[in-house]
Amino acid sequence: MAVVQEKPLLCKDFLARPKQLLIDGKFVDAETGNMFETRNPATDEVLCQVQEGGKADIDKAVKAARKAFEHGKWRKITATQRANMMLKLADLVEKNADEFAQLETLDNGKPIKESRYFDIPAVVETFRYYAGWCTKLEGETISNNPDFFTYTLREPIGVVGQIIPWNFPLLMAAWKLGPALACGNTLILKPAEQTPLSALRLGELVLEAGFPEGVVNIVTGFGANSAGEALSNHMDVDKIAFTGEDKTGREIVKASAGNLKRVSLELGGKAPNIVFADADIDAAVKGAIMGIFFNQGQVCCAGSRLFLDKKIHDEFMSKLTERVSKMRQGNGMDESTQIGPQVSREQQERVLKYIGIAKGEGAAVACGGDAPAGDLAKGYFVKPTIFTGVHNDMRIAQEEVFGPVLSVIPFEGVDDVADQANKIAFGLSGAVWTSDVKKAHKLAARIKAGTVWVNTFNMLDVAVPFGGYKMSGYGRELGKHSIDLYTNIKSVWVNLQD
Ligand code: ADP
Repeated sequence: MAVVQEKPLLCKDFLARPKQLLIDGKFVDAETGNMFETRNPATDEVLCQVQEGGKADIDKAVKAARKAFEHGKWRKITATQRANMMLKLADLVEKNADEFAQLETLDNGKPIKESRYFDIPAVVETFRYYAGWCTKLEGETISNNPDFFTYTLREPIGVVGQIIPWNFPLLMAAWKLGPALACGNTLILKPAEQTPLSALRLGELVLEAGFPEGVVNIVTGFGANSAGEALSNHMDVDKIAFTGEDKTGREIVKASAGNLKRVSLELGGKAPNIVFADADIDAAVKGAIMGIFFNQGQVCCAGSRLFLDKKIHDEFMSKLTERVSKMRQGNGMDESTQIGPQVSREQQERVLKYIGIAKGEGAAVACGGDAPAGDLAKGYFVKPTIFTGVHNDMRIAQEEVFGPVLSVIPFEGVDDVADQANKIAFGLSGAVWTSDVKKAHKLAARIKAGTVWVNTFNMLDVAVPFGGYKMSGYGRELGKHSIDLYTNIKSVWVNLQD
């Protein structure tokens, strides 16, 4: 019998240390005097207690960030020195990658293979990519008028608040920190209350990498009536970058009105995943599974509406359900797990509520449809679930579930599917599976979404812009587009007239 080697818990020491706020280069207790617990979604066990930052802590962090921005070393160092700090941070994350992967899986629930081979390498790559941008920020000269010398400066925005969700905790932190730091801003990061741990471990490495005090501040805590809200309506914060629910996005926009701070939003989605009869069916089946079940469906660009050409509906469904019924669901720390628990009891209940709504609307359960019993019952698990007989106007097809729930909708022809695909409030992503190049490009142009995949799904790259149309938000993250989110352009006019 093979002996299973128990992997050492590399994050044990970190879990045992106090979890404080990073403000002005030091780890400190919260002014609120409160702590909150973070739990392991696979077992419902408490992992540790974390300091609960509130308004007073946000005030302190903003002051530190302002001081660092206006008067600190940060403004005086060269772009190369800034790049070197970011490269050092990337190296440190890479050196501690296994520890980060375990921490992410324990706090979020995601399969360890995804933490280890997707999340953490993508974090390292993001810091390296944006380190490269430090030395490539440029203005321009404009010579329209011989009487004036006119040029532009690309300047950092200033003090930036960054509010992130729990689905890819460290990667979302990297998407925010990478470009903000590359452009020379100072920042306050507010991780999600469900998953504060990897950001705090990153904070330790930020100090080790040599970033001056106050450049990166990390305040853990809650959103509404707490740290998140205090950050988004703070009068001395110049910009908020937010990723999360559309409902929260609206609150952020309202809160920004006080000082009209810049806002960029990456919100929810309800992506159409369209399969034509002429597609490579086996590849599309795999793509549909990855599209909806990756990260337990807790992905804003998840392919939650599967549009199947009527001609292949039954063949596709039998292949799809056969594969999905064999998916190994379990504790994310188990190397063989393919689908883990939802992040929290609240999310599990929300997903189960939507499953109930879909059943009530008359959709048919093709597989899953409830929470697993037995060993998994104490965690926040929901079985991978597929509904057939869904109409695009049902709630299950229109509202973001943010869980492992797929709605299958039949269609007939390009115009029908293009209309149905676009009949949705969101517009983050979409996909088309076909062997017809013309059809692929025509639909790619017709789908109202920030990303369209052809014969693939969930592809992301740090150099390729990502963001939404419609209620999925505004602004584009990643690539050179993130640079626009974190800089202001200044025009300088010099009078040359004698
Ligand atoms: P979810 O409902 O899936 O947890 P949210 O959009 O509520 O997603 O959370 C994303 C992030 O937004 C978290 O860091 C959370 O604390 C924060 N947040 C929630 N509500 C507010 C708010 N009113 N103002 C600012 N931040 C908020």
